[in-house]
Amino acid sequence: MTDAPELRPIVAVALPLPLRREFSYLVAAGAAPPAPGTRVRVPFGERALTGVVVSAAGQAASGMREILEVLDTDPVCPPDLLDLARRTAQRFFASTGEVLKSALPARLPAPGALRYRLTEKGALGRPSGVEASVLEVLAAGGPVHAADLPKGTAEALRSLEERGWVRAVSTFRDRRARTETAYLPAAGTRDAVRRSARGERVLAWLAALGRPATAAEVRLATGAGPAVLRTLTTSGLVRSFEQPVREESRPALAARAAFRLTLEQDAAVSALTSAIREKRYFPALLQGVTGSGKTEVYLRAIGEALGAGRGAIWLVPEIALTPVFARELTRQFGDRAALLHSALSERDRGLAWDRVRRGDARAVIGPRSAIFAPVADPGVIIVDEEHDSSYKQRESPRYDAREVAALRARRARAALLFGTATPSLEAYHASRQGRVARLLLTERVEAKPLPVVSIVDLRRELPRPDEKGIPLFSRPLVERLRETFDRGEQAILLQPRRGYAPFLLCRECGHDFRCTNCSVARTVHDRGQRLVCHYCGERLARPLRCPECSGALLEAIGFGTERVGDRFAELFPGVPYAVLDRDSSRRRGAGAVVEDVLAGRVACLIGTQMVAKGHDFPNVTAVGVLSADTMLNFPDFRSAEKTFQLVAQVAGRAGRGASPGTVHVQTFHPQHPAIRRAAEHDVDGFCADELLFRRSFFYPPFCELAAILVSSPDRERAQQTAASIAGAAEGAPGLRLSGPAPAPLERLQGKWRFQVLLRAPDRRTILAILESCIPERPPSGVQIAADVDPQDLM
Ligand code: ADP
Ligand code: ZN
Repeated sequence: MTDAPELRPIVAVALPLPLRREFSYLVAAGAAPPAPGTRVRVPFGERALTGVVVSAAGQAASGMREILEVLDTDPVCPPDLLDLARRTAQRFFASTGEVLKSALPARLPAPGALRYRLTEKGALGRPSGVEASVLEVLAAGGPVHAADLPKGTAEALRSLEERGWVRAVSTFRDRRARTETAYLPAAGTRDAVRRSARGERVLAWLAALGRPATAAEVRLATGAGPAVLRTLTTSGLVRSFEQPVREESRPALAARAAFRLTLEQDAAVSALTSAIREKRYFPALLQGVTGSGKTEVYLRAIGEALGAGRGAIWLVPEIALTPVFARELTRQFGDRAALLHSALSERDRGLAWDRVRRGDARAVIGPRSAIFAPVADPGVIIVDEEHDSSYKQRESPRYDAREVAALRARRARAALLFGTATPSLEAYHASRQGRVARLLLTERVEAKPLPVVSIVDLRRELPRPDEKGIPLFSRPLVERLRETFDRGEQAILLQPRRGYAPFLLCRECGHDFRCTNCSVARTVHDRGQRLVCHYCGERLARPLRCPECSGALLEAIGFGTERVGDRFAELFPGVPYAVLDRDSSRRRGAGAVVEDVLAGRVACLIGTQMVAKGHDFPNVTAVGVLSADTMLNFPDFRSAEKTFQLVAQVAGRAGRGASPGTVHVQTFHPQHPAIRRAAEHDVDGFCADELLFRRSFFYPPFCELAAILVSSPDRERAQQTAASIAGAAEGAPGLRLSGPAPAPLERLQGKWRFQVLLRAPDRRTILAILESCIPERPPSGVQIAADVDPQDLM
């Protein structure tokens, strides 16, 4: 007989399923219940799933199943993160298990994979008892597996690790955290130990130096090779340990210290510093024009947090730039910094995560999911390029890292810094209302001027015969580019469409080669040789004849980045250029393209939105926006905001170095306020107008918005389900309901899509309405997705 189930402990487990509830499981007979934050394998229907224990007590029920396997000896997820994941799920009508799945790396190093090393502190320490025997083994040389330490030392090892005398390192070498072996004279002299004359000399030199030295330094100063050091360590006269490689951090630190902060930077840093030291929640918007030195403010704030014994999280949009900033961070903070990027291999991500969880690295940089990094006591959380919509996850769980950052910073009593030149209307409004502090950087560093922006009215440009009515390179832009290249300076050209051309047209019947699964025209790629659907990814060879009328007059219409490149090469033969967009970064890695620009190997960078994001290319003096109108035509209430941000951001890449910059913005809407205000660098003017519009039409930030998307291969069913959801929501107090209506992308990957939009004065009302109108189980063959605070209404 086993124990009666009701006497066995029960735990609540969050599972990575789109279900907003937790599941209860019995703990194996005789076992202690796994602590919250521990991963477990549990049976679910016919499958086994990996979930995370969220609390020690669940709901007892008959027929309850038992945990199959406990995967961690220690909880991998600290309590504050568990709490954050739960609150995130709640705020975004998502599943805690799915939030945890995006938060935790899929692969964490197994406990047995860890080896231990002595730290500098440990090398200087004077332990006794069991601890001394552990140190003895470690002091003799490199990292040692826990299993190779004397028996019964686990407790001592843990206590040494807690005090920072010993550090766990992974078996896998972490390429980002380079270390070197350093040597110190052991504490207390052992006169009885015999030493050679050489050993004597090394010891005396080390003692006089007063800091640890590397083998190379020892050899340089005393002529003694590694054998002498080895003898000294084995006889206990010298201790060795691993330290971060120093040459890397030293000169960089010196160069940085040479910066005198501008008065405005200084004011921002002081405000952050006091909040970090006083452990005060301090939300702030750092609104700084492009090139005003926001990065320097971030780095100082991180330095303050580390100096105060706290941690730091720096979020960056998921872009080419991450490695550049990550390098800056490691250069400055050595192995106290960790990069948590989704592009890392699962193993590397697991390693970095583990390093952070153990407290070895305390400053983390990464895209939105890094907001869940297991940093203990973050003192500052930075959201760089705050306006970037990539902070919102578009698939389930649809959380917004900016809001999660606020939840986390408030609980951790941290400084929360939203930095950008072009704030989102939400952040701008909050700062205007005084809900977040406003830190302003109104000038570029060293009083460099902002670039002069000219608007080029495309209605007055005569297209060349092969441009089909859409001029691509206006005369003023071409002239300016010539000048730029003649002077040996660089340029950036923005064209917000990738591929060769937006679509292929049959000149005889007007057929546009729509995707059969999606309601969009296929994009022309590979110099016209291929048609690709950007939504479902289907690729076709370019047809020779129209499937409708068999006509052979097929023509690629418009310009994507690839075709812009071809035209550029015609206009500027011999001028090296590179393309930066999703395709090229998949092929080559965006980092490589960015390096090419920095190193001057290309004179012109052509690309989509990706060229507008945060780059600091000192030699770029000319920027051209080939078409500013693409975004304006989007059926989205944020289209003006997105256009303004894009134009202002790409303009901000010009003139950041010694020579001033110019920008040409080509448009068919030269009077549009978004374009005019961007050309005038008038953030306040734009935001004031736009807030008026948002207020009168009841859009965010004056309301809370949620989109319910219903999709099914069966159009009828999708429409009916959407109608019944709208019916259930209708009449709720405070609700403004729109739809059901076909989504702007009515068909996607073979599914029909209908949308219901909910607007209400506050989040609580929206969540209550979602709760009441979305059925627990969707009808079969239908999918329902709720997106709270959506950034994308397509
Ligand atoms: P932003 O992010 O505001 O566009 P960056 O942080 O990229 O601007 O800074 C622009 C350039 O100015 C960088 O090359 C940076 O090293 C430099 N910089 C930052 N602060 C100072 C300062 N106080 N004095 C001189 N140069 C600075
Ligand atoms: Zn498609």
